[in-house]
Amino acid sequence: MAQILDGKALASQVRKELKSRVSEGVQNGLPQPGLATLLVGDDPASHVYVKFKRRACEEVGFQNFHIELPSDTSQADLLDKIEELNQNSEVHGILVQLPLPKGLDEAAVLEAVAATKDADGFHPMNQGALMQGRQSLRPCTPLGIMRIIEESGMDLNGKKAVVVGRSNIVGKPIALMLLEKHATVSVCHSRTADLAAEVRAADVVVAAVGRAHLVQGDWIKEGAVVIDVGINRLEDGSLTGDVDFEEASKRASWITPVPGGVGPMTIAMLLSNTLKAAWGE
Ligand code: NDP
Repeated sequence: MAQILDGKALASQVRKELKSRVSEGVQNGLPQPGLATLLVGDDPASHVYVKFKRRACEEVGFQNFHIELPSDTSQADLLDKIEELNQNSEVHGILVQLPLPKGLDEAAVLEAVAATKDADGFHPMNQGALMQGRQSLRPCTPLGIMRIIEESGMDLNGKKAVVVGRSNIVGKPIALMLLEKHATVSVCHSRTADLAAEVRAADVVVAAVGRAHLVQGDWIKEGAVVIDVGINRLEDGSLTGDVDFEEASKRASWITPVPGGVGPMTIAMLLSNTLKAAWGE
């Protein structure tokens, strides 16, 4: 039976560490880290996510600059707002909550955030740096996943990792980070011919698709580490992942739950990125 990789507990530990670093640093004259959260429109899930991020921000002693704009905000007004934040020396990290309302150009908006304040790690400069294996602000969810895998004690060197999903925010960057740690990585997607066969060969599975229980329990290799990024809402309102947790737990050595796995670590890494942007460490 798999052991649970408790992202909630790990995230709380990370936040505690950040809080004491912030209080010590500020006492020693370093600036109080500041994160700007920019929310456009009225998507209910986005409001909930931003609320969690703001709360976490305040908990560790960061300043939070919160901006809410209506869903009919023009591209030009949004870019102006971002430029204001880019120029504000108290703001070290900028988070633009996605998805943006229809009509706004997401790629242009993400590129408008100064790369040095890109707390989400989505700017093409930072994604390019990651591809080259250079230090940069890296995307939060993959950073959180790497911390979780570290917690399992698995040495990735020479292991076979399978990533299901190839988005710019999860699938591609986590594939690069696993590769950096010397895993042999396959990236699967909707056109993959035999997903089950790919997953069956994996020592580490990262599922980031957004389809409830796409990854079946009997696909999991005995002893594999299973990281479930997916967040899917079932008809009864409950949340579930991309992996059939119950069946996969019978074969995996370690597995993340949904909720309480990758999600909390994503927010913890957002804070960690903001600190890095503020203090350059
Ligand atoms: P995207 O929708 O951007 O990407 C989904 C990927 O899954 C695509 O690459 C797609 O392939 C692939 N896919 C779709 N159907 C299949 C299939 N049948 N077999 C194999 N691959 C398939 O999603 P995101 O990466 O943004 O998010 C993925 C999930 O993770 C979502 O549930 C999201 O809510 C969750 N998430 C959770 C976070 C957290 O903090 N816990 C953070 C970010 C996301 P193709 O490219 O061919 O279309």
